[in-house]
Amino acid sequence: MNLSVETLFTAALGLQAPWEVKEVELNTAKRRIDFEVGYTGKKHACPACGAAEQGIHDRVRRDWRHLDFFQFEAWLHAEVPRVKCDACGKVSQVPVPWAREGSGFTLLFEALGLSLCRELPVAQAAGLLRVAAKRLWTRIAHYVTTARAQDDMRGVHQIGIDETRVRKGHEYLTVVHDLQAKRLLFACPGRDHETVAAFARDLTAHGGDAAAVAHVCMDMSAAYALGVRQALPHAAISFDRFHVVALANEAMDAVRREEMRTHPVAVGEALGNTDRKVLKGLMWGMRKNPSGWSKGQSEAMHWLQRSNLKSARAWRLKQALREVYAGALSSNCPEKAAEALKAWLSWARRCRLEPFKRLARTLSERFDAVVRGMLDGRSNAYVEAMNGLLQQTKTAARGFRTVQNFIAIAYLRMSKLKHLPETPFVPAAPLSLGCLRHRL
Ligand SMILES: [Zn+2]
Repeated sequence: MNLSVETLFTAALGLQAPWEVKEVELNTAKRRIDFEVGYTGKKHACPACGAAEQGIHDRVRRDWRHLDFFQFEAWLHAEVPRVKCDACGKVSQVPVPWAREGSGFTLLFEALGLSLCRELPVAQAAGLLRVAAKRLWTRIAHYVTTARAQDDMRGVHQIGIDETRVRKGHEYLTVVHDLQAKRLLFACPGRDHETVAAFARDLTAHGGDAAAVAHVCMDMSAAYALGVRQALPHAAISFDRFHVVALANEAMDAVRREEMRTHPVAVGEALGNTDRKVLKGLMWGMRKNPSGWSKGQSEAMHWLQRSNLKSARAWRLKQALREVYAGALSSNCPEKAAEALKAWLSWARRCRLEPFKRLARTLSERFDAVVRGMLDGRSNAYVEAMNGLLQQTKTAARGFRTVQNFIAIAYLRMSKLKHLPETPFVPAAPLSLGCLRHRL
């Protein structure tokens, strides 16, 4: 088969009549390849009203960045016809099959940009593509909005509600996950009961049913509890173990800080040393699981466990609560979990450590929801994985971390949206022209 370079590239770009490549210019010094695309037709349907066979009024010059061709930066250029319509009287530009209206990127280039942004920080993706990061952010916003508009939320029954901060010290977002489909359903600014109502509206708008949500896993915020009662009337609340164990860690830290402040001599005697490094080792050792202790942490924890310090008691209480959770996870039996939690609460109430007595009161008041959160592994690996993904998402938005950008990229990466463009590296439907061979 003997083909011209223009025919070859017309096929490679997936163009069909009346569009074709008229000219190819390869500039090795500038590492650039330019394609001049032409429209050979004489008439076109009116883009505004659809009236067929309208005459071409004039042409406007447009340029699009395309996927690199080997090591060359590829550009498409065309004189795009505008038709003057006899039916509606409007002058409108004919749409081109390779790009969205008004975009300076081809569809394939946009698809590549999106797929890079799912894996890399946006600033880094922009660097690789040699475009301004802002141009990628506008594409992310566009495609995520389009894909979410078609998102199907039927069959949502178990959700997790959590808060996250966009930037240190800045405003909070509420995020809602589908615990079964393991994806992000919704994110919005704020963390009051209204955010739950906003989620319920969004769920309904996507074919879901707020009354069908049977289970909500969340932290102990009273605002979320109110929001759930109002907007998700049939949902049983369970408090997830990460927040409960985090509260136990906070209680333990409060005991340790207080003791170090008020009894520095006793702490020093028990540990044999009070230099900053040892005390830091103690702080981290107490927070971590024994399997994760470093050498210094092991040492500090060795002496702590042999002491009569309040900090030692606080550490044992915290570890015991972790074990209550671990036991419930393996038995998955509500009676056993309730019994173990009751035993722990009674110890905590009598422990003479004020922060743990307070925690015991908090957990007693919400006993049933705490026990529910211990069972079925609902809140376990997935919530942890989601928190990891949220952290990566924050990294991905570094330098451009506005609330809107953060929400958009969280949807892009965590929502398993089905209506996003495919990465251009996955072969789409075969071209109608099939395989072309060209001997230069
Ligand atoms: Zn018209």
